[in-house]
Amino acid sequence: MAAHSTYLGRFAPSPSGTLHFGSLVAALGSFLQARSYRGQWHVRIEDIDPPREIPGAADAILRQLTHYGLYWDGPVVYQSQRSQAYLDVLSELARQGLSYNCDCTRARIQQLGGLYDGHCRQRCLSTRHAAVRLRQTRPVLSFIDRLRGEIHADPALAREDFIIRRRDGLFAYNLAVVVDDAALGVTEVVRGADLIEPTVRQLALYRQLGYKEPGYLHLPLALTPAGTKLSKQNHAPTLSDGDPLPVLADALVFLNQPLAQGWRDLTLESMLDWAIRHWSPASIPLAPQDTTHTHPFSKDVG
Ligand code: GLU
Ligand code: ZN
Repeated sequence: MAAHSTYLGRFAPSPSGTLHFGSLVAALGSFLQARSYRGQWHVRIEDIDPPREIPGAADAILRQLTHYGLYWDGPVVYQSQRSQAYLDVLSELARQGLSYNCDCTRARIQQLGGLYDGHCRQRCLSTRHAAVRLRQTRPVLSFIDRLRGEIHADPALAREDFIIRRRDGLFAYNLAVVVDDAALGVTEVVRGADLIEPTVRQLALYRQLGYKEPGYLHLPLALTPAGTKLSKQNHAPTLSDGDPLPVLADALVFLNQPLAQGWRDLTLESMLDWAIRHWSPASIPLAPQDTTHTHPFSKDVG
C-alpha cells in the first residue's frame, strides 16, 4: 500500500432517486480504492437530465453518503452548473470538424437495427432541432479493465457516431462525464459494471480531445432476486437510515472483502479505516451477484 498521492477517484450519482444497496457498493468501492492509495475522492451530482431528476434527491444522496461515513474531498460538482464547459468542448469539436448535426428520427435508426449509419455526416445541417454526433475518426475497440483485463467492445457499437448533444439541447452523459472527469483530473474510474459498454465511447472522446485517459475498474452489479440490476427504475429500496455498520458489512462481503473481528462494536470511522487498510481489489468478484442473502433490504424487490 504505497502512498500514491496523485490518485484521484470519484463517485458520480444521478439524482434520479436516492442511493440503494447497488449504489452503496459503487460508492464504497471507489472510496476504498481512492483512500487505500491515500488519494482524493470526489463526488459529482450528474444532474444534466432534469426530466429524470427527483426533487430533493441530490441532497438526500449527500446525506446518505455522510450517514455511511463516506466523506468526500473538495466541493461537490454539479453538472447542471457545468454547461459552459460542455459548450466550449462542443464548439471545439465543431471547429475541428469532429462533430456534425443530425436530424434523423428514432424510427429511422430503429429501422437500421438501432445503430446509426452516419447518414448526416456530409449534410451540414443547421443546429435547429438537430442532435450533435461525434464524427468518429479514432474509434476505440477495446480497453483494459483493472479487474477484468482486456474488454473488447462490439465493433459496430464502438464505431458508431454517438450523440454528444441531444436534440432537446441536453448534454449527453458520455460528453459530460468525459469533460468533468478530465477537468477534475480523475486518474481511475471505479463504477458499476453496467457502465462497461459506454467506456469505449468515452475513451474515443478522450482521444479526440487529447485528454489524458483514466484507468477503469468496473465493480460487480448487485442483482434483485429476479436477476435484474438493482436500480432506481425498478424501485430498489433506498438505503437504511438506521445503523450503517451492518449495511456496510453487507457491502464489504458483497465485494468479497474481509470484515474486522467484532466489527459490530467498532465506530463507523474505525470500521471504514479497517476496511481501507485491508482493501484488496484483486479479491473483488467479477460476476453480478444476487443480494438476497447478503442484503435483507432486497427481499421486497422483485
Ligand atoms: N451517473 C451515472 C449513474 O448514476 C454514473 C456515471 C459514471 O460513474 O460514469 O449511473
Ligand atoms: Zn442523421
